Amino acid sequence: MQFTDLGLAEPILKALAAKKYGSPTPIQSQAIPVLLKGKDLCGIAQTGTGKTAAFALPSLDHFARNPKPTPLQGCRMLVLSPTRELAAQIAQSFRDYGRFLKFSVEVVFGGVPINKQIRALGRGADIVVATPGRLLDLIDQRAFTIKDTEIFVLDEADQMMDMGFIHPLKRIAKLLPKERQNLFFSATMPGEIEALAAQFLNDPVKVSVAPQSTTAERVRQQATFVNQMEKQALLNLTIRNEDIDRALIFTRTKHGADRVVRFLEGAGIQAVAIHGNKSQAQRTTALQAFRHGHVKLLVATDIAARGIDVSGVSHVINFELPNVPEQYVHRIGRTARAGAEGIAISFVADDERPYLKAIERTTKVKLDIVPLPENFVEAVRNLPKAAPQRKGQQREQTPEQKAKRAEGQRRYQDQQKQQRGNAERAHRPDGDAKPAKKNFRRRRGGGGVGAHKGAVQKTGGR
Ligand code: AMP
Repeated sequence: MQFTDLGLAEPILKALAAKKYGSPTPIQSQAIPVLLKGKDLCGIAQTGTGKTAAFALPSLDHFARNPKPTPLQGCRMLVLSPTRELAAQIAQSFRDYGRFLKFSVEVVFGGVPINKQIRALGRGADIVVATPGRLLDLIDQRAFTIKDTEIFVLDEADQMMDMGFIHPLKRIAKLLPKERQNLFFSATMPGEIEALAAQFLNDPVKVSVAPQSTTAERVRQQATFVNQMEKQALLNLTIRNEDIDRALIFTRTKHGADRVVRFLEGAGIQAVAIHGNKSQAQRTTALQAFRHGHVKLLVATDIAARGIDVSGVSHVINFELPNVPEQYVHRIGRTARAGAEGIAISFVADDERPYLKAIERTTKVKLDIVPLPENFVEAVRNLPKAAPQRKGQQREQTPEQKAKRAEGQRRYQDQQKQQRGNAERAHRPDGDAKPAKKNFRRRRGGGGVGAHKGAVQKTGGR
């Protein structure tokens, strides 16, 4: 099938040709005909499958064939995205695909001043791409209404749920007009997501592409068992030993991501972090630097990285394994894009072994177990200190974030002391190292998975 077979308006075909798209991806060839007929759609597809064009192209076609003035302080199409980065990316896709059409697109998300967005939305826009929290802020301030929405898209529904957006979504559902076309996309469709979909969709056509494990099949997947306290040394060695074009390094917590960056910088390796505690400006700068290849290493938490489309990621490094197997699939899906091969390397501490088992069960792929490198003991002994925190980073923090960070630093220094002690003891011939498991547990008690979750909800987690 070719794009020309789909019956899309000429200016859209011209834009696709300019982007050098050959033929539609499976989600596009299944979804576009359905959407052009004005039907509702429920799509099981993850980022990387071409789903943005699947919903953007027929919508642009609708606007090209049905021109109308934009509703004041309103929109004709509303796209909800869980993260700011994905929202900006979607808006950019609309601009690209609609470059030969006349229409307006605005993107609104939190973390930046609201007044500029209020001004921009005053005139209304054909398409608004928004994160749920900021959208409701704008509605509550009576600066925006969604009552004129003709097409509604909920993207990455499962991530929306993970991020605790269920109540905002229910509120938004009530504010939408009855007559509208609905599109609902999710990478997975467990019962709770299906229930959410039912609130938005009206007799939808269901399409499903690329079961999650197919992404995993193109990725060479390895794991190395390593003491949690010694992961930084292993990371430094991995980065030096591997032929990396671009690597995404995943940590479970925001503080963990910052710590990894400071340690890499301490070792003279440039890296940037992206997570929910960073200001929007910092996130944009980090992502741009990574996208344009100025920085080869991006350290990220799951929520910040999901949905980001950066080509040329040769390696995904799981500094910490996710406790949800599907998250592992999302992570490694960042590499091996557009048919390329990718490498996923996981560092597995003792208490992460059950996560590894769950991942292998879900993906039906046995990870290659790679031993620690030969010069590992030496690397642990000579692990350079973490670089000090940069002033600019501290200035942008709220008092709450500062207090949290100070607590994290204190814990971190304690760990470092312990780590040095443990490393020395472990590598002495008569080593009497304490089990790493115990140390790791203690650390997580204060700043681990639970703390991360809490922080995500408090800050909106975007
Ligand atoms: P998405 O899943 O929407 O994030 O798209 C993933 C990537 O695939 C983006 O970089 C798109 O530009 C690209 N893409 C989408 N559709 C096509 C197509 N039909 N042919 C080639 N590339 C595409």
